[in-house]
Amino acid sequence: MRSPIPEYLDEVLRTCEGDRAGAVADYVPELAAADAEQLAVAVSAVDGTVYEAGDSRTSFTVQSISKPFTYALALADRGCEAVLAKIGVEPSGEAFNELSLEQGSARPRNPMINVGALTAHTLAGPPGAPREERLERVVSGISAFAGRRLEIDEAVCRSEMETAHRNLAIAHMLRGYEVIEEDAPHVVEDYVRQCSLLVTTRDLALMAATLANGGVQPVTGEQVVSREVVRQVLSVMTTCGMYDAAGDWVTTVGIPAKSGVSGGILGALPGQVGIGVFSPRLDPHGNSVRGVRVCERLSADMGLHLMEAP
Ligand code: GLN
Repeated sequence: MRSPIPEYLDEVLRTCEGDRAGAVADYVPELAAADAEQLAVAVSAVDGTVYEAGDSRTSFTVQSISKPFTYALALADRGCEAVLAKIGVEPSGEAFNELSLEQGSARPRNPMINVGALTAHTLAGPPGAPREERLERVVSGISAFAGRRLEIDEAVCRSEMETAHRNLAIAHMLRGYEVIEEDAPHVVEDYVRQCSLLVTTRDLALMAATLANGGVQPVTGEQVVSREVVRQVLSVMTTCGMYDAAGDWVTTVGIPAKSGVSGGILGALPGQVGIGVFSPRLDPHGNSVRGVRVCERLSADMGLHLMEAP
């Protein structure tokens, strides 16, 4: 018998597609050119079986959804203690691109905001590695979660670099406070490359399924990171993954998640499923409007809320 899940996912998309609220991110000129009508969902079981609907094979840049994965690589390469010495785990309640550090310690508050994500990028790979090696560690590491080699969208990358003043300011602040030791513009350039990796909604579901599966990519069988690393990453996603709407998200959807400005959302429920959704229009917090709606539906229909007894 054919699984009823694809029909169900089609139906979920149909009920959400009429919502045209929000606006496509325009602070990066190339992102502003995205087709706002795109809508996709993919759900992967922890065995790697993927169900998908809509534009689930269309590529878009991963943007901030790369942040938990680079954080995972930093934890794997440097250990939890060394990473915690540099980056905190407290929600900031501020915009993702705020110039802020913890009072006293001068640490970025968490790795899901740019100040922490730029720092996490410098902690991937062995200490003192040349920047090319570090970037390759990030690209191949994030690719390992997806189970295929991901490519960089050079046009989006160039476009973002033209307007990267805010990230440059953040990186110079980090250098000034000795949180990073690297050349600030180089760190921004490589972080922007990381954000410009092209993924599909299907990739997001499999990347999420790898987290949900204790760090083992379900299709390739590779242990990409340890269970301890996954626990740390999912915890931080729960409290900090949805910008300053994290509280709203955790109460309504209740799944560790991360969103990005190109309109993707990735959600991972340990031991159960990985979810990817994509639709470019964003709400005022920067989360995909239809993406949030799709996730609310999936969570309610499939009983995925973390805080609900099975
Ligand atoms: N590249 C983007 C930036 O740093 C990623 C932001 C995001 O997706 N929120 O501005």
